[in-house]
Order: sequence, then structure tokens, then C-alpha cells
Amino acid sequence: MDFSLSEKTQTMLAMIDELVTEELVPMEEAFLRKPFRELLPEIEKKREKVRQMGLWAPGHPEDYGGMGLGLVDLGLISEVLGRTPLGHFVFNCHAPDAGNIEILHLYGTDEQKERWLGPLVEGKIRSCFSMTEVEMPGSNPVMMETTAVKDGDDYVINGQKWYTTSADGAAFAVVMAITDPEAPAHHRASMIIVPTDTPGFDLVRNINVMGHAGDDWASHAEILYHSCRVPQSNLLGPEGHGFVIAQERLGPGRIHHCMRWIGICNRAFDLMCSRAASRTIAPDRTLADKDVIQTWIAECAADIHAARLMVLNTAWKIEKLGWKEAREDISMIKFVTANTMQKVIDHALQVHGGLGMTDDTMLAFFYRHERAARIYDGADEVHKLSLARRILRQYR
Ligand SMILES: Cc1cc2nc3c(=O)[nH]c(=O)nc-3n(C[C@H](O)[C@H](O)[C@H](O)COP(=O)(O)OP(=O)(O)OC[C@H]3O[C@@H](n4cnc5c(N)ncnc54)[C@H](O)[C@@H]3O)c2cc1C
Repeated sequence: MDFSLSEKTQTMLAMIDELVTEELVPMEEAFLRKPFRELLPEIEKKREKVRQMGLWAPGHPEDYGGMGLGLVDLGLISEVLGRTPLGHFVFNCHAPDAGNIEILHLYGTDEQKERWLGPLVEGKIRSCFSMTEVEMPGSNPVMMETTAVKDGDDYVINGQKWYTTSADGAAFAVVMAITDPEAPAHHRASMIIVPTDTPGFDLVRNINVMGHAGDDWASHAEILYHSCRVPQSNLLGPEGHGFVIAQERLGPGRIHHCMRWIGICNRAFDLMCSRAASRTIAPDRTLADKDVIQTWIAECAADIHAARLMVLNTAWKIEKLGWKEAREDISMIKFVTANTMQKVIDHALQVHGGLGMTDDTMLAFFYRHERAARIYDGADEVHKLSLARRILRQYR
């Protein structure tokens, strides 16, 4: 495969990189200190600029106002945007909306598309994805307690979810609930659109994650659905297809996350090298003169390069052959990239010494918030087991 970039892609990446460096990185100090909601007016100005530059919603459908780019281009953009936590949001290609846009485009009825998909791609509303439960193992989501029971023309939903990212301020949630408890395990659940102003949708709290509850888009909520009634026309896709649709949401979403993590790696790596080269630790000696630091730098450079090529190769494979043919790659890149990112952030933080623990650089933020990468979207162990099982099938 050929990863050389067209002139158009190179120009686009250079424009995005410039905006990230000139306009978004300077906002990070405020991002670390202020509630996200307070930053929204400033963020909205940046979003308007992105729209005017013709770079709005790069991966989203063209017929709804996005750029409709393929996965490889989208991956490369995600890498550049990943350098700052504000990047994806400002370009309207952030989780969890990106995944919801995709499944609404694939499975939404005309009415659902008009009411939810259009405004999401335009950036007028936000959404969330509500699957994981407090009492049940997210690693085995067929063990689900939330139910949606038919009553007249409605579904009545009851259950307790948590880690519903970005629920605070969202217009609607895509909720996974059991619609047929007697069906085979993978056909019991369905996806249902629940507007967040529906009576019985109770946002209990934004969960404190690594010491920060966050707010608005930058938060993870616990939600109680009690006798939450929505019309049956809010079913997304066929009944019983919840897990099938969740699988389809997976491939492109994985590329988005992994390339965002590579962007974080690049940022942490830059910080590490700059600090090593400038920190004097003895007369005429900087940290960069030390073997151990040089070893970290060489190892991190190689690890980032390997992970990056692996993710781009997977994006290429999904684009050419479809996500089913890339299943093993999709599992592999998840744990390889998440662990590479952790290693790079950790080394970068260590090179900064006490400074690394402060919020004077972005490293402590990355360290706190990106630890979750080895847990969400399938824990490392689950991906490794399923990958090994598939490999071993050929030997049995
Ligand atoms: C920051 C963050 C954002 C999230 N956003 C969302 C969201 O928007 N929507 C949503 O629905 N969910 C979200 N989640 C939830 C996430 O998907 C779950 O946390 C994840 O699926 C793991 O489920 P669990 O927490 O119940 O852990 P468990 O299933 O209890 O697993 C705990 C640990 O056990 C180990 N383990 C589990 N199964 C196996 C196995 N088969 N073999 C070996 N070891 C195993 C793993 O080490 C795992 O980390 C988010 C989580 C985080 C941390």
C-alpha cells in the first residue's frame, strides 16, 4: 500500500496544523482552569472559522454538510487534531457525536435524520451514547439490565447507566436496552433515541474521573432512566440489532481514537525532546546528553512510528475491504496504540520532573485523562483474548 499524500491532503493537513498551533493550543491554559461551558463562546468563534475554511465535519456525510472524507484522510486529520484536547470538538468530528452521526446516517429513518442527524452535523446540538451500566460488566455488555418494554405506541425504559460521555448538555442519548429478554444473547438489545428532556431521564451526576467531574462535552455522566417513555418510532435500526449496530460503529471510531492518541504521542514526544534539549542538569550538560533519556527518545520514536503505520494500514484496509476483513487489525491497534501512548506520556512526564506533575504543561492532563484509553472501547485484555482466539482458530 502507498501512504504518500496527495497535494490536496497535504494542503489540508497544513491548514489544520496551523489552526491547531496558532489558535487552539493557546486556549489550553483556559481549558485546564475553567469549566468547559465558559469556553464555549470562544470555541464557537473557532468553529465558525473552521466552517469558513471549508474544513468542517471532515468525516461526516457530504449530503448533511460534512466533507465526506475516507478513513485514511480522516485518520491523518485526527492525528493533527489530537495534539490538543480541543481539536476534534472545534472541527466537529469528536466522540461520541461522530459515532452517533455514523449510525444515524446508516440506520436512521427520514424523520430521525431530519430531527437529529442534520443538527448534529451542523454542530447545533450534541448527543451521547448510553450503554455501560453501573452494576453490569461493560466488558460483556450482553449482561445488561436496562429494559425497554412496549406499552401502547411507546417504549418505557428503566435502568441505571454510567460513563455516558458528554450527556451533560446533550440533546439526546442513544440508549442500549433489552427489548426481548428471551432472544439469543446478541439479539436481546436495541438502540433507542431518548431526548434528554424526556421525563424519567435523570442525569444523577457528572462522575469524578481522576479528580475531575468536568462539565458539558468534557464530562461523563451517571444516568437513571426511570419509566422513561419514548415513542416506538425512536427505535434506531431494527429491533434486536443493538449489538450489530454497535459493532459497525466500532471500526471507524477506532481509527478516530487511535489516530487521536498518535496525535497525543506526537505532542508528548515534542515536549519531551524540547525539555531534554533545554534542561541543564550540570555545567555544559543537558538531559539530552544522558544515555537513558536518549534511549527513551529512540524507543518512543520507534513505537510511535510503528503504531501510526499500523493504524493507517487498518484504516486503508477498512476503506478497501470493509471492517469485517479488518477485525483482527481493529483489535490490535486498540491495545498497541493505547499502551504506546501511555508509555510516551509517562516518559515525557518523567523527563519534566516536578514540572510534569503540574498543569503548566499538557502532560498531567494527558496522563490523567488518557489512562482510560486502556479501558473504554473494550479493555486491553478483552481485545487480546478475542484476537488470540481468532488466531488460534487457524491452528486447531
Ligand atoms: C473515560 C471513559 C469514557 C467512557 N465513555 C462511555 C460512553 O460514552 N458510553 C458508554 O456506554 N460507556 C462508556 N465507557 C464505559 C466503558 O465502555 C467501560 O468502562 C468498559 O467497557 C469496561 O467495562 P467496565 O468498566 O464495566 O469493566 P468490567 O467489565 O467490570 O471489567 C473490568 C476489568 O476486568 C478485566 N476484564 C474484563 N473482561 C475480561 C476478560 N474477558 N478477560 C480478562 N480480563 C477481563 C479488564 O482488565 C477490565 O478493565 C467509558 C469509560 C471510560 C473510563
